[in-house]
Amino acid sequence: MSHGPTILPSKGRCIYCGREGARLTDEHFLPFALGGVHVIAKASCDECADVTKRFEQDVARGMWGDARISYSAPSRRKSQRATHLWVVDAERADRRVKVPYADYPASMVFYKMHRSGFLEGLPATVDTSSAWQFSVIINEKRHAAFEAKYGFKPTHRFRHVPDSFGRLLAKIGYGQVLSSLDPSDFHQVCIPYILGEKRNLSYIVGGIHKIPPPDSLGYVLNTLAFGAPDRLLLIAEIRLYANMHSLQYHVVVGEARGHKGVESVLRKLDGVAEILVGTAHDISVSKRSLHWFPQRWPLPPFE
Ligand SMILES: [Zn+2]
Repeated sequence: MSHGPTILPSKGRCIYCGREGARLTDEHFLPFALGGVHVIAKASCDECADVTKRFEQDVARGMWGDARISYSAPSRRKSQRATHLWVVDAERADRRVKVPYADYPASMVFYKMHRSGFLEGLPATVDTSSAWQFSVIINEKRHAAFEAKYGFKPTHRFRHVPDSFGRLLAKIGYGQVLSSLDPSDFHQVCIPYILGEKRNLSYIVGGIHKIPPPDSLGYVLNTLAFGAPDRLLLIAEIRLYANMHSLQYHVVVGEARGHKGVESVLRKLDGVAEILVGTAHDISVSKRSLHWFPQRWPLPPFE
């Protein structure tokens, strides 16, 4: 991931449906609303943009809406934002007070996930997303200040949108891999999940429960390439709001196939990705601790 605003050149067609000749718009693969400054120029057709916009809004407003407003996160419609919200007393549901967003100690919520089904060697039909749990990050200082001023513990509200959250991660991971590769360089496993044609997000999206120390950056994206000389798995590592105690995720974006395909991808990823190519033995000895180490070797085919 490059630091700071980056505009990558257009791929000449829609990166999602592959359509050529349609009107294409610039794609913030990490949504602007979440602080994203990485853009692929002329990358999404209007139809695909409609699809991706829906799940992005679910997350930006439903899960992180109050937090984004209270911490004054970027928005294209900032002037239309609500200035106050009703806050319910956590101990007395009949009591609520209208408070300015600036006083509200909004919490951030993430989903705690296990590793993706693919890395676990599970069939694509096994959906583990029902085990994704909300993990809430509370700002203790602002909480104490709120209680001192209003005399009660505030409640928090979030919408449960696991499907949209998984699709958003898949979209971000795909964009991250496209920052060094072209869509035609690899078999794009993640596309049907982003477009909603396949529903079991837990097959390609997962995480680790251990929370890494906060980073200095707002978000951290990495590409990892893993596999054998004739089959290379492309994985994106994603941490949003990395300057908080946020969770880290991975997305199985796709794979390069055949010796020639793998060689060409490796050349493009040289210096920009963490790469591991070798026999099962080399890999298991050196990197067994990595959370994206696949459980089954050789890798099973994608379903
Ligand atoms: Zn499209």
